[in-house]
Amino acid sequence: MKVLVINSGSSSLKYQVLEIDSEKCLIKGLVERIGEDESDIEQTNGEKEYQVVAKIKDHEEALKEALKLITDSDFGCLKDLSEIDAVGHRVVHGGEKFFSSVLINEDVIKAIEENSDLAPLHNPPNLMGIKASQKVLPKVPQVAVFDTSFHHTMPEKAYMYGLPYELYQKHKIRRYGFHGTSHRYVSKKASQMLGENIKNLKIITAHLGNGASLAAIDKGKVVDTSMGFTPLEGLMMGTRSGDVDPGIIIFLLRNGYSIDEVDNLLNKKSGVLGLSEISNDMRDIRKGIENGDKKAKLAYDVYVYKLAKYIGSYVTILKGLDVLVFTAGVGENDHDVRKDVCDYLEIFGVKIDEEKNNGLNRKEGIISTEDSKVKVLVVKTDEELMIARDTKKIIEKRRI
Ligand code: ADP
Repeated sequence: MKVLVINSGSSSLKYQVLEIDSEKCLIKGLVERIGEDESDIEQTNGEKEYQVVAKIKDHEEALKEALKLITDSDFGCLKDLSEIDAVGHRVVHGGEKFFSSVLINEDVIKAIEENSDLAPLHNPPNLMGIKASQKVLPKVPQVAVFDTSFHHTMPEKAYMYGLPYELYQKHKIRRYGFHGTSHRYVSKKASQMLGENIKNLKIITAHLGNGASLAAIDKGKVVDTSMGFTPLEGLMMGTRSGDVDPGIIIFLLRNGYSIDEVDNLLNKKSGVLGLSEISNDMRDIRKGIENGDKKAKLAYDVYVYKLAKYIGSYVTILKGLDVLVFTAGVGENDHDVRKDVCDYLEIFGVKIDEEKNNGLNRKEGIISTEDSKVKVLVVKTDEELMIARDTKKIIEKRRI
């Protein structure tokens, strides 16, 4: 079975074709700057890279272009579009409606639309991808996989804010959590790598990309996660502040900042970038530290400190910890972050084998010592594969 996976953002469309029985990615591509005069298109099938600049009007045109490249006799991986058995879409917000992945029909589209005020930056572009794909591939079944759904097992005490209950009833203001597809994938993979049943494990997964979040997973079910009503809550991230005193927002608004300015400040100008005044990228921060830059060091220290503080609190609510997993850009590549966070966690029985930690070099593996009470792993996240797996499951169920 071949599955096309689509991740559609406001001005971009990422795609992959996977042969799902062998779980092999046949091709991946990206159309960026959709709607601008010059859009960038790139694709690779592992052997040949293709790059071009063209004007792409909207998501439908972007998808048509992608499908042309997928079936290109030179750069592509398919002879004909009829080889695509199903399409899996990443959808950011499933709200309180979707607890698992679903086959897309009119009701599902309506519900995703209804959840758009919860994720105004994400759900509308996700829907554009779905609609474009329904139009261009009308006979192919489509599946939605939600970033929020893995977190639906959080108990009320974890997802409710200390706000008037009325806000939950009126506006659905509660914690939802994001990056769920990644947390689900890496927690499962980690338990497989350890040869353990996930039902016997207390796991903390640290997805540390540009956006960053933690999940506390007990017996395979999320009991807490660090992102909340929006992806702004929780850890300090590349450009997002993470947790701050909400009084700061009131202060800024009272002192002449507009709503859009505060939004931009908290989402795009804060975090590692805001504190370091250098970059949101950990590689630049590392260089800054090596050059003696004090703000780079401060940004790094706050990043690691907050991460350790959150992990510590999750060990408490899990009442113990068996497995700690690092994933995404920083988690997979930055051995210093892993080491420095784990140093804070010694009290819980976390011991890193420095040789293993330093030697991974873009690979996955176990980085804790033999006698570490907690197994620490680096796992490469693969949200597309998870989306394709879910899509396959749903399509096969439909066929029975
Ligand atoms: P996104 O959240 O956008 O999907 P990624 O998971 O790819 O992003 O993470 C991107 C971030 O990963 C970069 O901003 C950078 O901070 C970090 N990163 C990537 N490669 C490295 C590396 N070799 N060393 C340290 N940090 C890295």
